[in-house]
Amino acid sequence: MLERFARFLESPQRILLTSHENPDGDGTGAMIGLAYYLRSLGKEVRIVVNPELPHFLRFMDPQGWVEAFEPTDRHRELAQWPETWILVDASEPHRLGVMQETFLASKAVKICLDHHMKESPQGFDHEFTDSAASASAELVFDLVARRMPRPLPRAMATALYAGLVDDTGNFRFSNATPKTHRMAAELIEEGVEPARVYQDLYHQGRPERLKLFGRAFEGLRLQAVGRYACLRLTRTDMSVCGAIHDDMEGLVNKPLELRGVEVACLLYELEDGQIKASLRSRERVDVNAVCRSFGGGGHRLASGAKLDGPLERAQTLMDAAILARIAADLATP
Ligand code: AMP
Repeated sequence: MLERFARFLESPQRILLTSHENPDGDGTGAMIGLAYYLRSLGKEVRIVVNPELPHFLRFMDPQGWVEAFEPTDRHRELAQWPETWILVDASEPHRLGVMQETFLASKAVKICLDHHMKESPQGFDHEFTDSAASASAELVFDLVARRMPRPLPRAMATALYAGLVDDTGNFRFSNATPKTHRMAAELIEEGVEPARVYQDLYHQGRPERLKLFGRAFEGLRLQAVGRYACLRLTRTDMSVCGAIHDDMEGLVNKPLELRGVEVACLLYELEDGQIKASLRSRERVDVNAVCRSFGGGGHRLASGAKLDGPLERAQTLMDAAILARIAADLATP
């Protein structure tokens, strides 16, 4: 698959890289890694994200390549710019959020590069997907490993390493394979400083973040004899704590630290009134199946979806779907 991707990349000159809205560490690391590779081939590359690169990921972009999407201003003509538009770390155009309109209007050749479990991505001219890869950064590392002179630029290696770290839950989830560990080791041998990456990724929080975590945990609900833990955050919670979206990062993983919890869910009220659901599973319950039933997706152990509000309604639907899935998956030996 990556041979095919490498051959495809030979012809276009102007290439736009984007990821899903509110890009995460993996999407960002993969885009930055790919940008280094494409620039080494002499391509013109832009990276545009919606709405912007979260503060805690800015260390991955020391060159300042990542542009925050400004549809009415700087990016009014964005649809016309690229010959090729690559969506990285997502397989559905709707995951671009408001950037989707520009994507649909563009005549560029549309590509999807992803490691999520989507059987047949729609809306692309070509797709390069591999759900066996732990992270999109792993796909990019595989692509460049034999095609770029070593050592890789330090910022590129750091971005790819941070992508691996973030999507494997710091190498804790079952998607962290021997191959993932070997890649991480190679990147460290190339000069990446893991301790520095962990500091940058996880130890730059604001006090508002901890206030928000406290408020969310006050409302923690446990069901199914402690197997299902649900957190919820309203717009009011956010404003009372003075919190922003970045402050929520990692919150959904926390309930899995409790003994017995199999599924953690965070329901979060978005500004447009929709409800974002983030689900995490310890091991046995397929939360991807739950999210797919609401039009979302992701992986077996980490998935997301958007539901219509209000929050109470979304909560009722999500609780029922998760409880049914827990009953089904824990009943199978
Ligand atoms: P999140 O809960 O947003 O951290 O996402 C967990 C995983 O699910 C990530 O791999 C996301 O790319 C994926 N994901 C989140 N929301 C959606 C969605 N609405 N549709 C498809 N995949 C999603």
